[in-house]
Amino acid sequence: MSDSNDSVREIRINPIVPSESVLVATARGMRPREAEKRVERNREARVERCPFCTGNEEKTPPTIMAWPSEEDWQIRIVENLYPVLGDDRNESGINFGLQQAIEGYGRHEVVIDHNNHGISIHEMEVSHLQNLFRIYRERMAQLYANDDRIRYVLIFKNFGEAAGASIKHTHSQIIAMPVIPENVYNEIVHSRDYYQKNHQCIFCTLIDEALTYEATIYDRSSGEIRRKIDVGQYIIERGEKFIAIKPFASRYEWEVHIMPLKHESDFLKTPDEDLEDLGRVLKNTMARLDKVLGGAQYNFFLHSLPHGEDSDEFTASYHWHLEICPRTSIPTGFELGSGLFVSTISPESAAAQLREVELDE
Ligand SMILES: [Zn+2]
Ligand SMILES: [Zn+2]
Ligand SMILES: [Zn+2]
Repeated sequence: MSDSNDSVREIRINPIVPSESVLVATARGMRPREAEKRVERNREARVERCPFCTGNEEKTPPTIMAWPSEEDWQIRIVENLYPVLGDDRNESGINFGLQQAIEGYGRHEVVIDHNNHGISIHEMEVSHLQNLFRIYRERMAQLYANDDRIRYVLIFKNFGEAAGASIKHTHSQIIAMPVIPENVYNEIVHSRDYYQKNHQCIFCTLIDEALTYEATIYDRSSGEIRRKIDVGQYIIERGEKFIAIKPFASRYEWEVHIMPLKHESDFLKTPDEDLEDLGRVLKNTMARLDKVLGGAQYNFFLHSLPHGEDSDEFTASYHWHLEICPRTSIPTGFELGSGLFVSTISPESAAAQLREVELDE
């Protein structure tokens, strides 16, 4: 890698959503952002007062789904006590001039990822993670099937208070909503445009480039090497069916995306046997992040094809993926005001550090 010692200052355009860009500025002493706190790990398996621990099931709303059984659960879905969207109908329907609103209809549920209170994703068994994604898939399918007003089911996880987690017991969330969220919509529209021009899925192209391209970019006038791109430089973890990639331009310094190697737009179509490989790639990726960042707060989001009558239009161009976004620093006013996020570590050296981690088997 040519740039690990040199300083970089460039604005990189997100190839999928070009309006999202990141300022990579790695000069020594570039610390525009305040560091985000690391989470003090609580490794207790059970906490008496925790509503998500076994024995306290009456402290949560009733079980919606449980695995392997409701009595002896390892994964459990319940309704969120404080839903951001609900199914209570209010007939207000206030629309006036520019004040247009859609009813906040939907579902908000909590997935208790594991019966062990303090366990981290990278400490869970691969078979457990496979079951967790199977449960996500089943519940997502039910939510789409139960109500055709639902356009999108978002699955996400918050870890740490800065990432939005108010309860420490490991958990993720499912929100079923009547609109397609903007982040997903932008990806869908831009990847469809790319497909129309190039007859290829942009995510598949990105995977191909990461696995097969090598390049040396020279300065036009001096002929000096400006950047070297090596095969595999952006790859963090490669499984049989899934790959973890560090995006060339991403808003969060340690952001990693996991995608199926074979083209598939809809997470719901992923077969059980592939979910095992997903579990392994996720576990190893999270272990690498944990070794490098130790207790960093993070979010992950699952982006998949929205449902609705026009969704067929995007099956060839969209490619589902999991975005993992560690929250290592607090965004500044410049970043929030401009939408231009600053990265003080180059994505290439972040990828190299993650790849160099020796995983203990
Ligand atoms: Zn607990
Ligand atoms: Zn694809
Ligand atoms: Zn995405």
